Amino acid sequence: MKVSRRTVLQLTGFGFLAGVLLPRMVFAARNSLLSVRTGVQPGDKTRLVIETESRPSYSLSYPENQLVVTIANTQQKSSVSPKLASGTLIKNITQTQSGDSLRIVADLRKPISEIQKSQIMVLDPNGDNGYRLVLDFAAGAGGSVKASATTTTANKTTAKKYTIVIDPGHGGKDPGCIGKGGTKEKTIVLSVAKKLQARLEENGFRTYLTRSGDSFLKLADRAAIAEKRKGDLFLSLHANANPSRKVKGFSIYTLSEKASDEEAQKLADTENAADKIDVSGFEQFSKDIRIALSSLQQHAVAEMSVEYANKCVRAFRNAGIEQQSGASVRHAPFAVLRSTVPGTLIELGHLSNANEEKLLKSDSHQNKLVAAIVRSIKNYDFDV
Ligand SMILES: [Zn+2]
Repeated sequence: MKVSRRTVLQLTGFGFLAGVLLPRMVFAARNSLLSVRTGVQPGDKTRLVIETESRPSYSLSYPENQLVVTIANTQQKSSVSPKLASGTLIKNITQTQSGDSLRIVADLRKPISEIQKSQIMVLDPNGDNGYRLVLDFAAGAGGSVKASATTTTANKTTAKKYTIVIDPGHGGKDPGCIGKGGTKEKTIVLSVAKKLQARLEENGFRTYLTRSGDSFLKLADRAAIAEKRKGDLFLSLHANANPSRKVKGFSIYTLSEKASDEEAQKLADTENAADKIDVSGFEQFSKDIRIALSSLQQHAVAEMSVEYANKCVRAFRNAGIEQQSGASVRHAPFAVLRSTVPGTLIELGHLSNANEEKLLKSDSHQNKLVAAIVRSIKNYDFDV
């Protein structure tokens, strides 16, 4: 199942009038509108996404209580209904034709200031998506934006630096699981985490480790670090153990209130036992996090996590890394994943399996795991 943020947000369609009120005109427009949608972003931000077939050449203007996006060489398309999420600053969107330009007019609930360049992105097509012009904004401080005062023209991608928070599981007094040859989970995952950090930095990501030494850290503190660092993605790294020494392979988990299967629940119990805490559901989030976590966000975070987890499974498979039999992405109530940051828990392999214990210790296999994770992150669409 393809899960995108589009399906995540609870969308409510609004009709619009422009298409019927304005005379139809024929243009030799080269670009065409594919979709318009809004969503809620952390920090009370509104996101407006305008999807087009070709790279948009656009300008912005700010008439009173409106945001107008003018896209050159584009014809209006009345069949495109804006999908408006609840809780944003945009109450209505219409499209009008102005010469050979398309004007997307967003009626705002509150005035905004000129949108900073860093909050504007043009994303290249991927999967089923065309080009996407992505605008993030919050209610403006000044509140008195003059009519048509500002026009910004840009036609380039503003690269945002994404933050990945890497969480090497266990540490200190908690060794995690231990292989027959004496290999400790806490040592393996720290080594992989450090390699991963280096590779991600090389690839232009901002990274943080929840622990960089052999120290004990509570699960809630790990989740809190993801929040504090404003992570775009949180990866908790682990290695598994099974009573049967034959069981092998990696497995990838996301947070859910209910485990997808008994084995996933058992694993969550084991990993949660690091804190000797009993977690039964979302009500166990710390109070601050719970407040930030509207149900909309909760769903969005869960879906984004699954979206990433699927990319991760694919990258591991493509790298020829052995996968544990069973569902490709599983779900369970992992305490460490309880935050507003999308994330997954990755069991890199089984230390209880003699061959995998050997592999997990080796630099070459660790590098292989790291390369697969880097690829999955590069393939993950952070924005839409
Ligand atoms: Zn673990």
